[in-house]
Amino acid sequence: MAKVLIPTPLRQFTGKQDAVTASGGTVGEVLAALTLQFPDLRKQIFNDEGKLRSFVNVYLNDEDIRYLKKDATAAKDGDTISLVPSIAGGSTVAAPPETAELSKDEILRYSRHLIIPEVGIEGQQKLKAAKVLLVGAGGLGAPLGLYLAAAGVGKIGIVDFDVVDFTNLQRQVIHSTADVGRKKLDSAAEKMQGINPYLKIVKHETALSSENALEIFKDYDFIVDGTDNFPTRYLVNDACVLLGKPNVYGSIFRFEGQSTVFAYEGGPCYRCLYPEPPPPGLVPSCAEGGVLGILPGTIGLIQATETVKLILGIGEPLVGRLLLYDALGMRFRELKLRKNPECPMCGEHRTITKLIDYHQFCGVPSPNAAPVAEAKVTEGEIEVTEVKAMLDRGDQFLLIDVREPHEYKICNIPGAKLIPLGEVPQRLHELDQNADIVVHCKSGMRSAKACGILRNAGFPHVRNMKGGILAWSDRVDSSVPKY
Ligand SMILES: [Zn+2]
Repeated sequence: MAKVLIPTPLRQFTGKQDAVTASGGTVGEVLAALTLQFPDLRKQIFNDEGKLRSFVNVYLNDEDIRYLKKDATAAKDGDTISLVPSIAGGSTVAAPPETAELSKDEILRYSRHLIIPEVGIEGQQKLKAAKVLLVGAGGLGAPLGLYLAAAGVGKIGIVDFDVVDFTNLQRQVIHSTADVGRKKLDSAAEKMQGINPYLKIVKHETALSSENALEIFKDYDFIVDGTDNFPTRYLVNDACVLLGKPNVYGSIFRFEGQSTVFAYEGGPCYRCLYPEPPPPGLVPSCAEGGVLGILPGTIGLIQATETVKLILGIGEPLVGRLLLYDALGMRFRELKLRKNPECPMCGEHRTITKLIDYHQFCGVPSPNAAPVAEAKVTEGEIEVTEVKAMLDRGDQFLLIDVREPHEYKICNIPGAKLIPLGEVPQRLHELDQNADIVVHCKSGMRSAKACGILRNAGFPHVRNMKGGILAWSDRVDSSVPKY
């Protein structure tokens, strides 16, 4: 029997288990046995031809099976097989940074660095001469910004266009309550400058895009990826490979994080690990799935540590190794990452030579598209005010809430029937086929999926409540808390 470790995004298909055992003489047989046990998992990890989908990597102990005998790799009793899907985070190395003189005040400020032989005056000067770009001033960007500023990195650029909101404060410790409503760039820059007045901060107030990424990246030695979505992950990767700049990567979800350094001196890139993004909607973002507030601190500080090591040129960089962190088990694991010779981005026969449309690549709508909130109510949708009027009139209809039970406990609309999205297909028999049905969730995305499932199952009168319970809170009942 081999043990198969199931990562958080796939646990919904394994009855919430994080580890299951399955038998088989090869990794392929173990996975086949596993998907017999959990049929819903099958279509998530295998394509129609029965091939493993490329956003999931399979490791036998710490080796990627693509570099062993793939599916035919022998599995013994006691082996651990890990499924590692991509979660919402090769060329010459950047020229060694110039050095910069330190003033008397700076020598005092950095004295605890200067007395470490591996850093010393020379190392501190390298830090001062270094130029680091933070992509995002959110959960990962917060600890990165604070510590890189304190450590004496001379120039830090930040790309961000967001404003601070109340839901950020649980983890984005660079912003304070009084900053809610301010630009994250201004709030972060102020804190960092307060810690270190010698720091030069460059604010890039824009959404990183294929049009501006190369232009922004070219002025920096190291790029630190603190983004929260797949299109930007691939964009950061490709721009780093094209420019030959190391990409210090971190990603987080609920209690788990990943970190590594991509595109460093012949090391692998993000596309070597994940040639394709997951299907849209399979891997929820932190906004949808949640994240332990402390987690980005841990992962962001691993990224900060790697950045400082790269600048100083000391230690063993996290290159060719994917560090996995599990906060619940309080365990770190390390998997080997290899450069894929067939990689379309950094392989010998590169097929991608310029930046592409990453939203299209990832199958998600571009943020430049008209915002949903301003769009007209389309067919199959209903406004929250109309639902309220139907309830007040006592109309005969069924209101279904497809959120999770723990969300229902935070707030709900009285009279709504709770059927979490994942249970809708199995619970269709509970619903009257001819009923007038209105479906809602938090913001309207999951309920749109549920409407699709219901219509496909032959329910003719199904409407999606536009904007979800958030819109309900805004426009019908302000006592309903937003989350
Ligand atoms: Zn690659």
